Amino acid sequence: MLFLLLLLLFSSSSSSSSSSSSSAITDLEQAQLHLFQQYLRINTSHPSPDYTSAVSFLSAQALSIPLISQTLFFSPSKPLLLLSWPGSDPSLPSILLNSHIDSVPVEPSKWSHPPYAAHRDSHGRIFARGSQDDKCLAIQYLEALRALKASGFSPLRSIHVSLVPDEEIGGADGLAKFVESDEFKKLNVGFVLDEGQASPTDEFRVFYADRLPWSLVVKAVGSPGHGSRMYDGAALENLMECVETIARFRDNQFDLVKAGILAASEVISINPIFMKAGIPSPTGFVMNVQPSEGEVGYDVRVPPTVNIEFLRKRLDEEWAPVIRNLTYELFLKGPKLSDNGGRPLSTATDESNPWWSVFTKAIIASGGKLSKPEILASTTDARFIRQFGIPALGFSPMANTPILLHEHNEHLKDTVFLRGIKVYEHVITALSSFPGNSS
Ligand SMILES: [Zn+2]
Repeated sequence: MLFLLLLLLFSSSSSSSSSSSSSAITDLEQAQLHLFQQYLRINTSHPSPDYTSAVSFLSAQALSIPLISQTLFFSPSKPLLLLSWPGSDPSLPSILLNSHIDSVPVEPSKWSHPPYAAHRDSHGRIFARGSQDDKCLAIQYLEALRALKASGFSPLRSIHVSLVPDEEIGGADGLAKFVESDEFKKLNVGFVLDEGQASPTDEFRVFYADRLPWSLVVKAVGSPGHGSRMYDGAALENLMECVETIARFRDNQFDLVKAGILAASEVISINPIFMKAGIPSPTGFVMNVQPSEGEVGYDVRVPPTVNIEFLRKRLDEEWAPVIRNLTYELFLKGPKLSDNGGRPLSTATDESNPWWSVFTKAIIASGGKLSKPEILASTTDARFIRQFGIPALGFSPMANTPILLHEHNEHLKDTVFLRGIKVYEHVITALSSFPGNSS
């Protein structure tokens, strides 16, 4: 028994020293983790994000670095914090680092730790809503800038940080309004880093475009009839044909993903969201009448490289032809289909974009690896930036990390968070020291 106890004691102490990531963490790093936890403890989840507390916390940090801090309002009670470090040549286009303050809601009962406690477990994992998406970025940007200031670094280009509201509800009162403002134009932004996603491998992921979100609603009409009658052209028969045709297209797209030929973000996704049909009765539906109309709605995500006319043609000819009494509405939920110069909303990841090579070299210099650039399957605020033809990459330095954004038990490991600060020190140094091509 004593032997067993000793064995248990021994094994628990040795496992805690080998699995604990905190043993090698310095006092400075402890302080950085503490800041991250403090920010995570401010509940900025929708529907009522506490922007006031978040902005006062972040601006106090910025002033301690020190950075120039301005709080802008493009909508009442939705502050946007703009932080700046002027470069030695302010005529050069500047660097902007963006992060959203808000988060998606939680179901607290589904979490193993309270979602706003920022509990750090024995493996160094910090559990909180926003830990990956994307409150880590704000603190990493700030701490990288603090370290660079302390080292005596002097940027050639001005560096700005925008901490914006409302990304998770579409960004209309956040970055969308900011990019249209005089304050933004005055920054003369040349390159932007915005959020990316965690990577389960040891390579960081980087995103050069977002898929564009569309909504599709197909309506069918047809002759009503008794439930018992067999006849052609009933509304729901027409609608079902449309649904089946679209389902086949969806399967084909999905097969390309399953076969590993294309990434999920490189295909068109078209997923049914609602179906509306039937004649209501007090107990459900009238069961002996074939209705004269029906409707189906889809969430459609289209890579920026796909011309939307391709979809319209399929809708007109196969999915929702007029001859089958089908009509449709296809509308874009985002700001625009192409940038102000008519180009697709995507950032070049080759030698045509000098920022790309500066960025990739900085990642390598930081000891990191980058995976093949990707299109993001969902959308971020970066699309508002790309709209102006300004190159923007989505990047969150989280390697060897499960993808947990918007999920229960969202967490980020302490060492991954801390490494991100070092990565940004390299990246910010390289970007803000880049002498040209300044266009
Ligand atoms: Zn996000």
